[in-house]
Formats: sequence, structure tokens, C-alpha cells
Amino acid sequence: MSIFTKIISGEIPCYKIAENDEFISFLDINPNAKGHALVVPKREENKLFDLSKDEYNSLMDFSYRVAKALEKSVPCKRIGMTVIGLEVPHVHVHLIPINEMADMQFQRKISLSKEEFEAIAKEISGNFI
Ligand code: AMP
Repeated sequence: MSIFTKIISGEIPCYKIAENDEFISFLDINPNAKGHALVVPKREENKLFDLSKDEYNSLMDFSYRVAKALEKSVPCKRIGMTVIGLEVPHVHVHLIPINEMADMQFQRKISLSKEEFEAIAKEISGNFI
């Protein structure tokens, strides 16, 4: 069982942004930038392109909505999107508010307090439609 399945079942806490029957979005715990969010299918699948086309398209649709909420919540040049999955073998889309290429490189991390995580998750969640 992946760590994200444990988050989905409520066994492990997260800074939740949004969810529906199929997907959940929450803040990355080790963010590249403030507002770095993950979008995860509730059905545990290892690799992005093992999703059905329908599930893939629905994941992109949900990610679009989270990205729009991020754009409203976090000042940045744009939202970067990437899928890696080498650390957690459960499909997830990274949505990262970026200002420069280094923000997409998963090397320079930022630290946020619990209160900062909670505040930004609430802000993004409030802008999610
Ligand atoms: P990757 O599988 O390479 O796409 O990386 C997994 C990502 O999940 C990393 O950016 C981690 O910081 C993030 N991550 C791992 N565990 C958690 C967690 N419990 N809550 C939120 N994000 C997590």
C-alpha cells in the first residue's frame, strides 16, 4: 500500500486542497516552492501511462482545476507540471508555482511551518472550482 493510499484512507494526515470520488490534491510535504501541490488518483496505480485513457484525461481535468486555483493563490510566473514517480510508486502530478527553471529541478527545497502549510492549503482550496 502506497503512502498516498494511506493519506487517502486518512491513516496519514495531509494538507488537503480538494478531492472528489476519483482524485485528491494535497500539498507536497517537501516542496520546491510555496503551493507545490500533488494530484493523485485514489485508485493506486504505479505509472502514469498505465492509467486508462479515461482516467488519464480525468486526472488532467482535475489537475487543470487545481492549477487554476494555484494561479489565483500564489504569485508566480506560471504553474509548472511534471510527473516523476521514482520516489512514490503511486501516480501523482506535481503542480509547482514557478518563477525560474530551478523551481522545477527538485534540488532546492523550501521549508514551511505547519501554519504556513495550513494557510496556503486553505487559500488554494478556497479558489478551487
Ligand atoms: P516522486 O515520486 O519522485 O514524484 O516524488 C514523490 C513526491 O511526494 C516528493 O516530492 C515528496 O516530497 C512527496 N511526498 C512524499 N511523501 C509525502 C507525504 N506524506 N505528503 C505529501 N507529499 C509527500
